[in-house]
Amino acid sequence: MSLSSEDLKKLTDSLGEIVGETYVSTSIFERIRNGLDVYPYSAEREKLPYAIVLPKTAEEISEILKLANTFPVPVYVRGSGTSLAGASRYKYPGIVVNTHRMDALEFYEDYGYAECEPGCVCYDVMQAFEERGAFLPVAPGSKLIASMGGLVANNTSAHIIDASIGKFSDYILGVQAVLPTGEIIETGTKGLRRPAGTDLTKFFVGGDGLLGIVTRIRIRLVPTFVKAHGYAVYGSLDSLARGVQRMYMEKRPMPLYMEFMEKETAKIGYEIKGMDPPEGSVIFFVATGITQQEADGKLDQIIQSLKKEHPLEIRHISDLEEWEKLWSAREVIGSYIMQKNESQFSSAEIVSNLKDLPECMEEARTFNQGLPLLSQLRLYLFGHIGSLTMHPGVLIPKDWDDAKFKQAVVEKFNRETELNVKYGTCGGEWGQFSHRADFFRKRYGDLGYNLVRQFKAVVDPNNILNRGVFEGNLPTDF
Ligand SMILES: Cc1cc2nc3c(=O)[nH]c(=O)nc-3n(C[C@H](O)[C@H](O)[C@H](O)COP(=O)(O)OP(=O)(O)OC[C@H]3O[C@@H](n4cnc5c(N)ncnc54)[C@H](O)[C@@H]3O)c2cc1C
Repeated sequence: MSLSSEDLKKLTDSLGEIVGETYVSTSIFERIRNGLDVYPYSAEREKLPYAIVLPKTAEEISEILKLANTFPVPVYVRGSGTSLAGASRYKYPGIVVNTHRMDALEFYEDYGYAECEPGCVCYDVMQAFEERGAFLPVAPGSKLIASMGGLVANNTSAHIIDASIGKFSDYILGVQAVLPTGEIIETGTKGLRRPAGTDLTKFFVGGDGLLGIVTRIRIRLVPTFVKAHGYAVYGSLDSLARGVQRMYMEKRPMPLYMEFMEKETAKIGYEIKGMDPPEGSVIFFVATGITQQEADGKLDQIIQSLKKEHPLEIRHISDLEEWEKLWSAREVIGSYIMQKNESQFSSAEIVSNLKDLPECMEEARTFNQGLPLLSQLRLYLFGHIGSLTMHPGVLIPKDWDDAKFKQAVVEKFNRETELNVKYGTCGGEWGQFSHRADFFRKRYGDLGYNLVRQFKAVVDPNNILNRGVFEGNLPTDF
């Protein structure tokens, strides 16, 4: 499988001719740095990338892919490597195309959209949008580091409630992408109406980087809105879940965000932000409007439903400083849990259907029960409750070795699969296949899985791009 030293030299020389020698690295440091994901298993030398390339243009990426097909050698496209589902821990040695030099962001306000390159960092794009009175419709906990290319590949909504303004893909008017065989394709429209019928954009947004490397993203400029902020504390997770269920059933205006933390989990975030611990499990939510009156009115309507399940406390938050503290306590709670315990945090993604939300919440609360390794660990629980999404997680003890840690991660993904299949749902974040192929097969059958395999084979006959992601092996299998 591995390249001879002669072929390796040929490969790196050719890469240097394409992007310039400065932008090709074979240093062991860069190979490790660009070959790891957020899971701290040790790097395995035989799987490390051969070389890291930093192209500047789609044309250079096209040349890199054509070259890779001649060897053939796998190509992995990398933004910031923050994937939580294994997509940035490569299963075979290959070329890593790191997109961070592709960081142009241009506004075409007279057309009503902006275009960015994949290496732009989410937060920078958010800020630039805000400065122009526009809202970037994606809000991950990793916004300070995640690349736009990575977010598009995952089509994440993150903290934004799909039922409120839709998913990121609804705002992407088109992309430029380089196919695994090197052709450059443009999809979508320069108009503000998404194409009806077959729109190839959909193959790349949420495509897990399997069908092409996205090199340009056209995003509709959505005007920013006025916000109203709300807060509730519930004595039990069951009443919290029933409150959210009511909000949907009673057809309230959907909030833009609605996050929750179970009481003991919330304590950690509150403590770090210097707030008194809550008396119960908490939710906080944001309603939007053109005017403050409209946003406040929508918030009142949401509160009317939430109140019927008897929260210990429920109110508007008008103090923005208080809101910022609460929001940041939740937004990076995974990092705070790690910070407090100096250990690695790992969480799953369970999505409920509306009808079974209270039951599913209970299963999320007891997620680790009965699992050989995970049941030995304390469970933390939080999530995007407005999207009926729960993230139960555990801290992996520092003294566990790689094999034990990997086994625990396998337990996590298997239980996640079991629950999402049971509730007839599918995760809305983090990518689909890298560790979730088994879920995909169980949920959509071999027919669905094989259809995707056939799409992939048509555009990528040598299985060059992100090899191993579609196969979706769990960490103990590779
Ligand atoms: C602290 C933290 C918080 C997070 N919070 C959230 C959250 O709230 N919601 C959420 O959904 N996720 C969250 N994530 C995970 C999330 O998937 C990533 O942060 C983000 O989507 C990936 O961006 P990235 O640049 O790191 O991509 P990478 O990890 O580098 O890549 C992810 C996948 O995208 C592909 N890819 C990258 N660039 C391109 C491109 N240009 N063209 C085609 N494919 C490409 C890669 O090949 C890979 O398959 C979080 C992660 C961390 C560490």
